Formats: sequence, C-alpha cells, structure tokens
Amino acid sequence: MRRVYLDHAATTGVDRDVLEKMTPYFSDTFGNPNSLHSFGREAEKAVTSSRDAIAKLLGCKPNELYFTSGGTEADNWAIKGIYTAYKNKGNHIITTKIEHKAVLASCQRLQKDGAEITYLDVDKYGTVDLEQLKNSITDKTILVSVITANNEVGTIQPIAEIGRICKERGVLFHTDAVQAIGAVDIDVKRDNIDLLSLSAHKVYGPKGIGALYIRNGVKCDRYISGGSQERGMRAGTTNVPLIVGMAAAFEKAVLNSEENNKKLIRLRDELIQRIEAGIPNSYLNGHRINRLPNNVNFCFEFVEGESLLLMLDMQGIAVSSGSACTSGSLEPSHVLSAMGVPPEIAQSATRFTFGRENTMEDIDYVVECLKKNLMTLRAMSPLFKQEKGDAKHV
Ligand SMILES: *Cc1c(COP(=O)(O)O)cnc(C)c1O
Repeated sequence: MRRVYLDHAATTGVDRDVLEKMTPYFSDTFGNPNSLHSFGREAEKAVTSSRDAIAKLLGCKPNELYFTSGGTEADNWAIKGIYTAYKNKGNHIITTKIEHKAVLASCQRLQKDGAEITYLDVDKYGTVDLEQLKNSITDKTILVSVITANNEVGTIQPIAEIGRICKERGVLFHTDAVQAIGAVDIDVKRDNIDLLSLSAHKVYGPKGIGALYIRNGVKCDRYISGGSQERGMRAGTTNVPLIVGMAAAFEKAVLNSEENNKKLIRLRDELIQRIEAGIPNSYLNGHRINRLPNNVNFCFEFVEGESLLLMLDMQGIAVSSGSACTSGSLEPSHVLSAMGVPPEIAQSATRFTFGRENTMEDIDYVVECLKKNLMTLRAMSPLFKQEKGDAKHV
C-alpha cells in the first residue's frame, strides 16, 4: 500500500545528513563539554560551533541562545522566567487565543500566582488585531507573547509590526517560532524580538532538543537549577549530539529555504485548489497568503475529522485532526473557535502538512481517497441527507 505522510507539523524524521553529523557525538566524541580535558574540549567545540551556526541564522549573538529539551520547555521558560523576573514591575501578560498549548498552559499556571493575562482575539483568518494589542498594553504589562506561525492553520502573524509596537511601548516580546524556522524569514534584531522559542524535530532534526533566545539585557529567571551549564541558566549535562543535530537541521532548513518553500507552496496550493474545485462544502481554514508553505487545513461539513483521519490512515495517509496535542479530546480546536468557526464545523477540521519527500503523485492519491471517504461519511450523515433533500426543493 502507498504510504503518504502529511503530518510534518507534528514531527518529521531526522534527515540522513543530520543523522550522520550527530552520530559521532554519541559514542566517539562523547566527552562532557564541561570537562577540562581533551575529551571535554572536543565536545565543547561541537557545541560552540552549533551555537554559533544557529545564532547566525537568527541574527543574534551565540551567548543569547540557551539550549532546552524542546519547544515546550522554551515556551514555559520564556513565560514563567519573565514573570518571575519582572512581576514586581507588573503582573500583566498579553498573549493570543491561538497560541500553542505550551504558552497557553504556562499563562494559565501564572494566573494562579496572580498574573493577569489578556488573550487577544484573531480575525477569521487567524491573524491578531494590532489595534487590540496596542489598546491592551498598560503600565502593568511586562510581556507580549505571539506565535510566529500557527501550528494548526498555518497563519503567519505580523511579527515585525508586533515587535515595533512592543519596543515603542517598552514591553518585552516573545514569539514561539517552532513552526516558522525555515518557512518565515526571521531576524531577531531587525524584528525587535526579545525572546524566541525553537525546536528541532519539526524541521528534520532530533526530538528532545530546542532553544530559547533571550536578548542580552533581558532579565529572565533561570529555569533549571544545578550546574553551570548554559551560563548557569539551564543546568543539566549538555546534550551534545542533539545540539549538533539541531544546528545541522536548521542550517539545511534555512539555507535551502527558498527552494524548499517553492516546492512546498506548489504542493500546498495544488491540494487547496483540487479540494476547493472537487469537494463541495469544504472550507479552507487560515490565511490564503500569509500561510506556512507546507500547511493545508480544511473543514469538511457533515463529517467528523476523527472518522476521516481513521479512514485515511487505513489507506496509508497520515493527517491530523485539529492539532496532535489536542487529539484524543473531543473539544473543538481552540484555534478554530477563536477564528469563529462554529463547533459543529470545527470538529471536521483536517490538517495536511507537507514535507520535503512529498510529490504531486501523493496529492493525486490523497484527493482520490478524500473524495471516496467523504462520500461514504456524508452518506451516513442525517444532516447531509437533509441538506441534499432541501436543495432539491429550492
Ligand atoms: C511542536 C510545537 C511546540 C512544542 O515543541 P516540542 O519540541 O515538541 O516540545 C511548541 N510550539 C509550536 C508552535 C509547536 O508546533
């Protein structure tokens, strides 16, 4: 059976070149970078050059990067670390209704400690309202956190404008750029970003490694206490092979981004066009243009996303209904709710995220299966029958 993986926003496989660069650091160059002997120095050299490479890609200094266990930890650290460091200045944080759960849950946790959180609305395309942002900033506001590109619907936010507003108003700006690396042109200095979260495994790097950029001069509380690793900010023996892997994966993603994105956009737009032309009662979620190159997200009226996912899975096609982190719960996606999609339609949301190995033939197969499955599922839906019946009388 043909197998088509269209869930690259959930995770990707490690790129073979990346794996090859990481491999020596497991068993050959295994030293602890904190050790002073040659074994340690060799490992330290690899960490330093990886940090330099990632810093260069982001436009920051190497000593502004702190390695973490992934995007979730980076988000938690940014939100909680800034709150702890600045809560005497103010207890107000502004974020959005469409953040990743790592940001939303961190904010909810701080609410218990006395933080006041404003959750900004988005329009029907999932874009934040800059006027509402401006109007929400008070003299108690310490941090604004807005995701660079949404992981469910792919909408890209006006990050540079948000950075400018925050700078003008003297408020710190954090962005979760986990989905954006390689897809969106990011320069933390140009865009006035104070903190930025990263993860390797969404761009063909290993799972379990990420980073938080903290601009020099920003006070952020240390996250894990212990040894002196990461300049005393995040203790724990340095994960050398994964750091090497993250740098290699980011370099490949960013340096080849133009070519990668051109190919992804062609696949993305072809699938959007074929669904809109061939499948009635289907609605594209997210922004048509300000959109991640690899993201397609549709609602298919009269269908349950979970049922469609399972049927596609039996045909070898991997997609996501809502986001992988919320699947398993029957709650409609918080992102689609914020965009004003009614719950009965939101529950049919299906996300297709492309990757480097996908082809136009994959799209032929996916569209063929989609049409078949939707016909089967809709034939079982009393609402669909009713609608069709009504239509006959019009
Ligand atoms: C995947 C993801 C995360 C979490 O990153 P992990 O490395 O899996 O912890 C955070 N934010 C966004 C937008 C993501 O897509």
